[in-house]
Amino acid sequence: MSLQQSNTERSSIATIVAPAMLGMLGGGQLGRFFVIAAHELGYQVTVLDPDKNSPAGKIADVHLCADFDDLAALKKLAQTCSAVTTEFENVPAKSLEKLALTTTVRPSASCVAIAQHRVLEKNFIKDAGLPVAPFAVINGATDLPEDTSSLYPAILKVARFGYDGKGQARVKNQTEAQKAFVEFKQEVCVLEQMLPLDLEVSVVLARDAQGNIAAFPTAENSHLNGILDISIVPARCSAVIKANAQALAKKLAEKLDYVGVLGVEFFVVGKQLLVNEIAPRPHNSGHYTIDACVTSQFEQQVRVMTGLPLGDASLHSNAVMVNILGDSWFANSKNDALEPAWNKALGHANLKLHLYGKHEPRKGRKMGHFTVIGQDLKTVLNAALIARSELHIGES
Ligand code: ATP
Ligand code: MG
Repeated sequence: MSLQQSNTERSSIATIVAPAMLGMLGGGQLGRFFVIAAHELGYQVTVLDPDKNSPAGKIADVHLCADFDDLAALKKLAQTCSAVTTEFENVPAKSLEKLALTTTVRPSASCVAIAQHRVLEKNFIKDAGLPVAPFAVINGATDLPEDTSSLYPAILKVARFGYDGKGQARVKNQTEAQKAFVEFKQEVCVLEQMLPLDLEVSVVLARDAQGNIAAFPTAENSHLNGILDISIVPARCSAVIKANAQALAKKLAEKLDYVGVLGVEFFVVGKQLLVNEIAPRPHNSGHYTIDACVTSQFEQQVRVMTGLPLGDASLHSNAVMVNILGDSWFANSKNDALEPAWNKALGHANLKLHLYGKHEPRKGRKMGHFTVIGQDLKTVLNAALIARSELHIGES
């Protein structure tokens, strides 16, 4: 198909108008923000998630409480929704393929399939001509390189179902790598060289069916125990690195022929920028867009799937976003879950608190986040760090 033909075909896609029903695979916090954004634009949402207490399911117009491969639930979703999207990459790509037979699915099953498998993902990024950390694919124990390999010290990462640093082990040599590989039940893995990171940054963008792209500003991210802790926007790195991250993220979206919201994580090592991984959905490091941008990443997700024009992705305020994990409930001498000091945090001007409605706080579980906005980034960061310590974040 020529480019011209495909563009003509694309531009003929009809806009889905409110109050049409939109489908969301996954009921977590990303889905919950999607439901809120969809409601603001007048749409209804059906959420498919097996958890009866899922954050998005609880506020959706319809909650299909079933597994992601439940045929009856998928049929209902396809019959009742004008378009379907996802909020997490581990939804079976086969379910998306099934849905795509009868309804609009954005992003496509093939893009999700790439993002949900580290080997496909890394090979795709590399083949697209973008830089990645040196790695080896580990299909079996014999693929683990000897101690002399330049990959050590390395991180062994399972190819599927890893998130928030889960399914990852830091290994110094072949013996440690073998032990970790056995612990990961000899599932296919990627062994990645451990890089001396100067910084981590990310770009969230939306690409529509006509190929237009609106990219949000580059965020600077710091992690704690493999989980995103703080995002600072704009990132405090050179303009060249920021612009480069934007350009690489756009290139990747184009190579994937991606339609939807895409998160791209980068490592910064000296002047070098390497792609870490991609997320076929809004990204935790893009939560700042709710309070600091004209259009949020979730509104963009609604716009792309309904064929509405992309919104303005520019920043109206500088922003610092801090994740609130279940640990904040346990930062006390007792073992009981105690409510964090919301009154203190909410006492800060320009602080926006978002809680996800999860009933059970657990250590390492994302319970909410807050974003501080303002014109002076240093002042914003100071306030965010004070609120962060008032909520005992990062103490355990
Ligand atoms: P998430 O889904 O939360 O982004 P994940 O489990 O998919 O996390 P990665 O993004 O691969 O995992 O890694 C989590 C973090 O571990 C990175 O953000 C980075 O801080 C660190 N890390 C991962 N790979 C490397 C590497 N090759 N060198 C140095 N640090 C790394
Ligand atoms: Mg990551």
